[in-house]
Amino acid sequence: MTASPTIARSGLEPGWADEVRALARRRDAVLLAHNYQLPEIQDVADHTGDSLALSRIAAESQASTIVFCGVHFMAETAKILSPGKTVLIPDAAAGCSLADSITVDQLRAWKAEHPGAVVVSYVNTTAAVKAETDICCTSSNAVEVVASIPAGKEVLFLPDQFLGAHVRRVLQRENMHVWAGECHVHAGINGATLTAQAEANPDAELFVHPECGCATSALYLAGTGAVPADRVKILSTGGMLDAARESRASSVLVATEVGMLHQLRRAAPEIDFRAVNDRASCRYMKMITPEKLLRALREGRDEVHVDPELAARGRAAVRRMIEIGQPGGAE
Ligand code: SF4
Repeated sequence: MTASPTIARSGLEPGWADEVRALARRRDAVLLAHNYQLPEIQDVADHTGDSLALSRIAAESQASTIVFCGVHFMAETAKILSPGKTVLIPDAAAGCSLADSITVDQLRAWKAEHPGAVVVSYVNTTAAVKAETDICCTSSNAVEVVASIPAGKEVLFLPDQFLGAHVRRVLQRENMHVWAGECHVHAGINGATLTAQAEANPDAELFVHPECGCATSALYLAGTGAVPADRVKILSTGGMLDAARESRASSVLVATEVGMLHQLRRAAPEIDFRAVNDRASCRYMKMITPEKLLRALREGRDEVHVDPELAARGRAAVRRMIEIGQPGGAE
């Protein structure tokens, strides 16, 4: 691991990555980094991936401590799935505008307006909201999850309005109510930007990766025909990396948060990967810096705690999702 220019500017020693690894070994910790983390964080991690894949790795790992480089709800999900392990996040203030768009009190009030409705939550939710949820979903299995609910039952879908609109359109389901939440990053991946980029790069393929809510608007737009269907590929993290290795295209437009470009360029260095909007960057993800990662490992902070009773209810909602279909797709 070499120190990037960012690290050199920040004043960290070039051997910082070695120190991270040594400290992790001493703590019996596994280092997990979400795809939207800074490149230097992705490079030092033991595993990179999307939030649920990382949570599953965390649960299966023999390590007693999980250091989750991502946003807070993701570290909470890891804790929900691994209640016996210590979970650290380098900055507990790394939130998520989508997860924050609904509070548990708002959800309880919404449920009271629709007694008997089935609550389906995208994984970008707090532990408290998951505990009030019947079934969780990801962007790849949301249609399947909602389709599994008897047609006569009302559905409350939250918090992502674009994913909800996509599911409602696919299933033509009238009795599905969608919370008007959104991620601030997707605003940079709107219809005008997508169409303009597709027209300006007529030979480029378009990869849409609706992980994390930032590109669910692109998922919705692709479904409306706003961009030519034959050039659009809706892909999971793994699918996107496989498609990159197999692609014969010389350039690929990527509709997702810019952090994903790092893994794609490593997978297929000969392809010119361009962000649909290079300002589509999650400021919360970028709060996790090498300095904070070092501090987390040196000082054992910030530890993530989830009330055991809440965790058990949240775990049940995640397990119901897994029973309906493995969330192996585009979450
Ligand atoms: S990209 Fe959006 S949905 Fe993902 S963590 Fe950031 S704010 Fe949340």
